[in-house]
Amino acid sequence: MKPTASIKLAKGREKKIKGFYPWVQKEEVRRPEGGKHVCLADLYSDDGDWLAIGTYNRVSRFPFRVLSLEREDIDETFFRERIRQAIDHRKGSIEDTNSQRIIFSEADRLPGLIVDQFGDHLVVQVRTAGMDMLRHLWLPALIEETGAESIMEKSEMAGRREEGLEPISQVLHGEPPAKIEVIESGFKMTALVETGLKTGFYLDQRNARRELARRVKPGDKVLDCFCYTGGFGIYAAKAGAEAVGVDIHPVALEEARATAERNDVKVDFVEANAFEYLAEGAGAKGPFDWIILDPPAIAKTQDKKNSLKWAIWKLVYAALPLLKPGGRLFVCSCSYQLSQQKLIEACRLAASDRKVRLMLEGITIQDLDHPVSTQFPESLYLKGVWLRRD
Ligand code: SAH
Repeated sequence: MKPTASIKLAKGREKKIKGFYPWVQKEEVRRPEGGKHVCLADLYSDDGDWLAIGTYNRVSRFPFRVLSLEREDIDETFFRERIRQAIDHRKGSIEDTNSQRIIFSEADRLPGLIVDQFGDHLVVQVRTAGMDMLRHLWLPALIEETGAESIMEKSEMAGRREEGLEPISQVLHGEPPAKIEVIESGFKMTALVETGLKTGFYLDQRNARRELARRVKPGDKVLDCFCYTGGFGIYAAKAGAEAVGVDIHPVALEEARATAERNDVKVDFVEANAFEYLAEGAGAKGPFDWIILDPPAIAKTQDKKNSLKWAIWKLVYAALPLLKPGGRLFVCSCSYQLSQQKLIEACRLAASDRKVRLMLEGITIQDLDHPVSTQFPESLYLKGVWLRRD
């Protein structure tokens, strides 16, 4: 496909593009010429130097997204190479599983495209109108490079509306199953493709689940809040802990119960609003040696970021009285908008308000199949802090 528009940047804005930052903001565009609402475009500096080829979407907050800093054709071969590189980079980094994220959008230089591979099947999310327009190029390349049996698209995020797209779920290839088995660390888990959240399974917490399993002791009492299909609690139970999982989503809990049974462990799963459950004393099931707090991304936009910080404060404030002295908390933020620093600050404030000392024992980020580009800070979205109540 050939570019049909030329985008000119405001003065001085080319520096970050040359430094591998892949997004151009609306305010940075000086003068678009030609092209449709959504098309391929060439990007030029204010001095007229060619900078990049990428997708252009007139209505987006980020109208231009870089596909390449070299002059190259955006065709099936282009996508085949990018997909192959993404798969190659991951070789040897993720072990003991049949499932991984094989394409992570900008971090894999494919802005707007996310692909999770669960066994022989793929689940795809398309976040931008640019990538949506190019699907006739990347879809055949994806099928060819992965040999996937089926591909389901689950582009249900509200963020698509900002791109002028409706949320959508559809079959892209083959006959996608409603559920797919995920084998991870010897556990048989499930990606709830049809009825679950996001792509159906949270691959990004794999390293944290493993870390928890390494650290819990037999007999520890573990409370897993926002447990979804039960990952943390099931790992902990296998390590000998007595685990309770809490979530508001009945379908996820039904799967969590089935998963615990299939893996021959006992976990007490409770359907509740975790905020209320904690505030009401966790059904007198505590005190706990471990409490996991993995809330959803409440703040997706900058102006709402304080709401997630406030939510973390509330959760930690409610959790601390339920934690034994010397007990541990694992608290996560899965939103870029709430940085690691702010996350620690929210925990610190809650602990000070409770008049307890809180120690930081470790920090983890999303697992390696969700790569982070230092030059695209937005790609570091999941942070988890490991804390100990003194
Ligand atoms: N820890 C999980 C992923 C959590 S995703 C894992 O590792 O797989 C966030 C979860 O929070 C979702 O399952 C969602 O159903 C749940 N959730 C959202 N709001 C909630 C609330 N107020 N109380 C309890 N669970 C909630």
